[in-house]
Amino acid sequence: MGMRPTDRGWGLGGTPRPSSMERVPGSRFLTRRLGFHLTHAANWGLPAEVALGQLRQAQPDVLVGSASSLAWLTGFMTPEDRVRSRPRYISTAGETCTAEMRRQLTETFGVPVHDEYASHEFNLIAAECPQGGRYHIQVWNLILEVLDGDRPVGTGEEGEVVATGLHSFAMPFLRYRLNDLVILGRSPCPYGAPVTTLDKILGRTIERFLLPDGRQVHPYVLVRPLLAEAPWLRRYQMVQDRPDHILGKIVPMTGPGPEAVAAVARSVAAALDAPVEVEVVLLDDIPPEPNGKYRPYYSLASGLAQRRSA
Ligand SMILES: [Zn+2]
Repeated sequence: MGMRPTDRGWGLGGTPRPSSMERVPGSRFLTRRLGFHLTHAANWGLPAEVALGQLRQAQPDVLVGSASSLAWLTGFMTPEDRVRSRPRYISTAGETCTAEMRRQLTETFGVPVHDEYASHEFNLIAAECPQGGRYHIQVWNLILEVLDGDRPVGTGEEGEVVATGLHSFAMPFLRYRLNDLVILGRSPCPYGAPVTTLDKILGRTIERFLLPDGRQVHPYVLVRPLLAEAPWLRRYQMVQDRPDHILGKIVPMTGPGPEAVAAVARSVAAALDAPVEVEVVLLDDIPPEPNGKYRPYYSLASGLAQRRSA
């Protein structure tokens, strides 16, 4: 991606930990003296003003972290911050980087976002193509299958990730279901890299909403009408708490009137085309999960159905 050993990084979100080089006992003093790997990872739980203070002081070459934490921080940046903060690029990982998080980040910092898809079991699974858009599967690290049930999907189709690690000798993972949904891309990458690709990382399977008629939809179908109808939103979370009820939580930038809020609920419900009630509530904040990740949508109803059938 073009990160140099002497680049200064600053990150927000995820688990702060030393770089791999610094995990060699006794190496930290030396690497710091040489000016290598000066990445500082701030805790996601910091108040916005404290995190912003650190960012102003760090003036990083590379901005790293979870897309939602970084996008959240842009909401507090002053026009002066926007001029002064000029990283070369932004590297996101750890959760789904949604289209609007990416837009917020590129518009604020004026540089590209490179997203990575990784897991604890396999480490790096896929990294965004340097040309942007699609993801290169790290074929030297794992064998990745994209399945619909037991059937391998074709290019452009959605399926579940099933992976086999090529280097995990102490704890083998053989055709392991990660419960992640992706869209399989072209092979090889149209820009020449000799790897299979993923078009999109859609997120966790528990994020799929189960409708009363048995259909399963991924909530990204609801995001388009939501954003079209509510340009005033700062952050949102869609929760299917019952099969026939979806709660849309919105943190607004400005105070929309009751009619605007009702219009959001109507247009989201219309996109579903099912007997499901959509309720929209305005909140001051939507806190992240205990692990610091932010879930833009999840379904309690699908989880119940899965546990019942298991
Ligand atoms: Zn490529």
